[in-house]
Amino acid sequence: MKTLRKPFILDVEPKQLYSVLKPLVVEEYRIKQIIEWLYVKKVSSFEKFSNLPKDVRGNLESSFYVRSFQNVIKQESILDGTIRYTFKTYDSHYVYAVYLPTESTKSVCISTQIGCPVSCNFCSSGKIKFVRDLSRGEILEQIIHIENDRNERVSGVLFMGMGEPFLNYNNLTSAIESIISKNELNIGKRHITVSSVGIIPAIKNLANAMYGVRFALSLHATDDKQRKKIIPNNFDSKISELLKTCKYYLKKTNSRVTIEYVLLKGFNDTSSDAHRLARLMRTARLIEPSVQVNLIPYNHANKNDYQAPEQVTVLTFKKILKLNGINVNIREAKGLDIGAACGQLGYTAK
Ligand code: SAH
Repeated sequence: MKTLRKPFILDVEPKQLYSVLKPLVVEEYRIKQIIEWLYVKKVSSFEKFSNLPKDVRGNLESSFYVRSFQNVIKQESILDGTIRYTFKTYDSHYVYAVYLPTESTKSVCISTQIGCPVSCNFCSSGKIKFVRDLSRGEILEQIIHIENDRNERVSGVLFMGMGEPFLNYNNLTSAIESIISKNELNIGKRHITVSSVGIIPAIKNLANAMYGVRFALSLHATDDKQRKKIIPNNFDSKISELLKTCKYYLKKTNSRVTIEYVLLKGFNDTSSDAHRLARLMRTARLIEPSVQVNLIPYNHANKNDYQAPEQVTVLTFKKILKLNGINVNIREAKGLDIGAACGQLGYTAK
């Protein structure tokens, strides 16, 4: 296995830099300056840390990398301005992130793993062999790279790229701490969403950690057998338990929860499915203003598998949920021409 020749400085948590850098940097206030260069000014070479003495910059340069990705491929959608970034890692794998602009928001959708061990059968990431977790630094570097490239601040972060965030829990939460810290990336916690297939102990841990970020559950089905067909590796989480845990998340964090529901033609898109979903949500006491259902009509991801329902089916599904008092939204596909929409981050641009 290939490893980095020097450590990657973004892999070191800022609070640990005080001890890690002690042998290289005499004055402690310099550490604060270094954190500012890395996370606020987001400068990509130690040489440009201009308020540091030359010898300190030299010490940093010989001991660490400031960036880990080797190169970047950028594809921009002509449909909606979405940009898909493909980063090549130091060990020659690919990591994907998507920049999603609207008039008022600039969100990024980022990855937490290379490949995905969950293997949802409607998602192209599930077809990529799982290689490894991304490090804390690699997770953050995606956001930092995009902010530098766009020369603007990102307003929201979606952990909805490749990988199951909860299978990389420590790096996920370490990255979240830097994202929401006022002295680091400083992005509002309410604008961070962690999306997961649902691993019950991890949802509880995230709730108890009190970061206050939003949680999105990829539910996609209304009975356990049906769910197992599309998410074979579902961690034996029962739908009723998953929904109960969402309620726990809400109560504990006072944040918001999204229920994601991919609509697959002829599989989970009938009126009965919609009524069943409403009943399940009512039983779990999830029909309330801080919960939203996001319907995601299937985006083409793999050969010969599913299709999106007709529009009338999608609208009927939405109407039934609405009549039950549920906040419901149809997620618009972004970047369809560059393979950047939900479920499409599995192919490699070269
Ligand atoms: N691994 C995370 C993030 C996945 S991407 C998770 O499981 O939640 C964000 C959402 O898009 C998830 O709800 C995912 O299930 C859904 N998705 C995956 N493939 C899709 C496809 N082909 N069309 C539409 N949505 C898809």
